[in-house]
Amino acid sequence: MSKLELLPINIGGEWRLGGGDESASLYPATGEVVGRLRAPSLADVQEAIEKADQAFRTSGWAQKKPHERAAVLHRVAQLIRERAEPLAQLQRLDNGKPISETRALVASAAGTFQFFAAACETMEETITPSRGDFMTMSVYEPMGVVAAITPWNSPIASEAQKLAPALAAGNAVVVKPAEATPLLALELARICEEAGVPKGIVSVLPGRGSVIGDAITKHPLVKRVSFTGGTSTGKHIARIAADKMMPVSLELGGKSATMVLEDADLDHAVNGVLYGIFSSSGESCIAGSRLFVARKLYGDFMERLTAKATALRVGDPADERTQMGPLITAEAKARVESYVAGAEAEGATVVVDGREAKFEGNGFFTGVSLLDHVKTDSKVYLEEIFGPVLAIVRVNSYEEGLQLINDHQFGNGTAIFTRDGGTARSFEFDVEAGMVGINVPIP
Ligand code: NAD
Repeated sequence: MSKLELLPINIGGEWRLGGGDESASLYPATGEVVGRLRAPSLADVQEAIEKADQAFRTSGWAQKKPHERAAVLHRVAQLIRERAEPLAQLQRLDNGKPISETRALVASAAGTFQFFAAACETMEETITPSRGDFMTMSVYEPMGVVAAITPWNSPIASEAQKLAPALAAGNAVVVKPAEATPLLALELARICEEAGVPKGIVSVLPGRGSVIGDAITKHPLVKRVSFTGGTSTGKHIARIAADKMMPVSLELGGKSATMVLEDADLDHAVNGVLYGIFSSSGESCIAGSRLFVARKLYGDFMERLTAKATALRVGDPADERTQMGPLITAEAKARVESYVAGAEAEGATVVVDGREAKFEGNGFFTGVSLLDHVKTDSKVYLEEIFGPVLAIVRVNSYEEGLQLINDHQFGNGTAIFTRDGGTARSFEFDVEAGMVGINVPIP
């Protein structure tokens, strides 16, 4: 891919330049431009949605038997696997994650298509109890045009999680990737086309969320939205969906918690906590950004945590040994560092200050930050920072930790480190979170 060439986008199955504003994908490790494109105009959005509706009605995709759609999805999975390395390298450039992480995300995208291909072939419709001399059934039908709106933190995996089930069910899909990371969604659309998804069934419309995303969500032909992103955007989309009486799936922000109890395997817990918060540079909805540690093992735990955190290899995403890459944009770096700057004023102790880490070049790097004595009414504790910042609170008991974990607006994921099976089992039931890890980082 030439760095300077404007990339075509997919408008209703046609690959062409959008009629909107020009935007660029920057390599977060250097700030260099790695892809340029023009966003769609509002007329392009209209055209893509109308063509998607037309393709849904006339291309035969919705009428295919499930096993026929499954065959196409299996081909998508196979093509992703065949191109795994170039896709992982492209994602590294688009998003700045270390190559070890982008390889895993590409593998996960292939697995998602394979999973939904299998679901397509094996899902059963049901004969329901009849209330007369006739047969009644529950059957699955596609909805029509659906929208997939994705964030920038795990491209290709996020898009696959939306595209695969929607395509498996026979829908047409308009994908709206994040402004910062449009490149993988475009590649995925090419792969879908090559695998046999009919023209017009998949469109990719990158661009500003408040313009392009809004226009897609409000469009009367869009029958459902699957959204992953920030909580305030999710609320906005939910309001539009309510006005349209449209179902919507929302996967939103987080401030996930980890608890380390007195009887935990210390080194194992330290590794789990580090992975939970610093993988993906903390730019993850399930980043374990709140940590509750039993007061009795605090000294030992902090000593090991600090030593290992400061030894993490932060830097070049192309280096296979790198454990943490840059943040997504210069704005993200400024936002994350402003939370660290404000932490002391809020009463926290900055044990490790990510702002002090030195990096060469113009990348959007920051180091890891550990905040001790964090107050539970402070901004760094309450708000999603979406960066490599760990807020640490000491607790006197399991019960105190549990209450603090549950008494928070976010509940995406949580993890506990303990050798006591009974406590772990109770935690699984008592904690209010979507995912629970026991002696593993938030899954
Ligand atoms: P964001 O909400 O700013 O953007 C997400 C997507 O929505 C982007 O494609 C954006 O262009 C689009 N968008 C923005 N405004 C819109 C509007 N008015 N109408 C329609 N679309 C609009 O979020 P982000 O900064 O890209 O991602 C970070 C957030 O995503 C974090 O809060 C993170 O926790 C969350 N996230 C959640 C999950 C999950 O599974 N729960 C996974 C990944 C990220």
